[in-house]
Amino acid sequence: MTDALRIQDLTVEYKTRRGVARAVDRIRLNLEENRTLGLAGESGCGKSTLGRAIMRLVPHPGQIADGNIYINIDEDIPCKKGDIPKGEVDITELNEEQMRVLRGKVIAYIFQDPMTSLNPMLTIGSHFVQMIRAHNPEIDKKEALERGKAVLEGLGILPERVTDYPHQFSGGMRQRVMIGLGMVLRPRLLISDEPTTSLDVIVEAQILEQMAELKKEFNLTMILITHNLGVLAQTADDIAIMYCGRIVELASVESLFESPQHPYAQALLLSVPDVTKPDKKLVWIPGAPPDLVDPIPGCMFAPRCPMAMDICKTQVPPLGESESGGLVACHLYGGQ
Ligand code: SF4
Repeated sequence: MTDALRIQDLTVEYKTRRGVARAVDRIRLNLEENRTLGLAGESGCGKSTLGRAIMRLVPHPGQIADGNIYINIDEDIPCKKGDIPKGEVDITELNEEQMRVLRGKVIAYIFQDPMTSLNPMLTIGSHFVQMIRAHNPEIDKKEALERGKAVLEGLGILPERVTDYPHQFSGGMRQRVMIGLGMVLRPRLLISDEPTTSLDVIVEAQILEQMAELKKEFNLTMILITHNLGVLAQTADDIAIMYCGRIVELASVESLFESPQHPYAQALLLSVPDVTKPDKKLVWIPGAPPDLVDPIPGCMFAPRCPMAMDICKTQVPPLGESESGGLVACHLYGGQ
């Protein structure tokens, strides 16, 4: 199976007045085609920064400080400032015009909050026309609008609503519009950032189902960013648990839910309510992640970890193979 995405030692830093905060810290990751990877962890663990780095859209004052991001492209892509050849391309080497061509067409990103991502002055139809014509200027407005209508219809929105403005849609419908805009150019890799966070459980379930159908229909590879492990249980093939900018555990969904290895992953799972187990005692993780501007030596989870040992306070645990077939970064497992 080919890797759709390969990340090597990616580091993203934010320059703040107090110093440099390393939001993504030497991450390595391979994502096979047609699989869905869930990125999970507490707020501020680096999951959205990692997603944005893959789009080369790290917000100011952040920047990719080191590492490579390889995307597999299945056709030569023409670009005014240098055609992009098919095959594995390191997007950290591309110029901004080449990235502009890739965004939407090869990699698409669905942002967290549709209300701030959609332009309130434009109809939904205009959003589709702009998105399609920016990448395919040969398509006229009428044809672009028809394509937008077809995508909306596939997501359960009446095509005639292309003349409506974002504020005329409910939260769930706006999220569907965002998914439609992300899908309309048929990207190979779709990154979705908290796609259902502000929605009620019924709309959430509908949207997750529609995303799963789209994934199947278009052979998509997906990254789903969420703090909600319940969402990942329904949608992801694999889950990467992030803490302080690092991946601390990577495993298949089944294996992560059945036998999480890392103490942080174990604690996260214990904090998820389960309607099938009404007697389950929910736990919370005491303390807070350390300051990224002034990181502590050793394992960043040590101050909150009930299993911490002396070595944890001085040596960073490397990410090595776990007994369950995944990867884990914890000295409890010998730090392979
Ligand atoms: S390395 Fe040590 S402190 Fe970190 S999670 Fe493992 S046991 Fe806990």
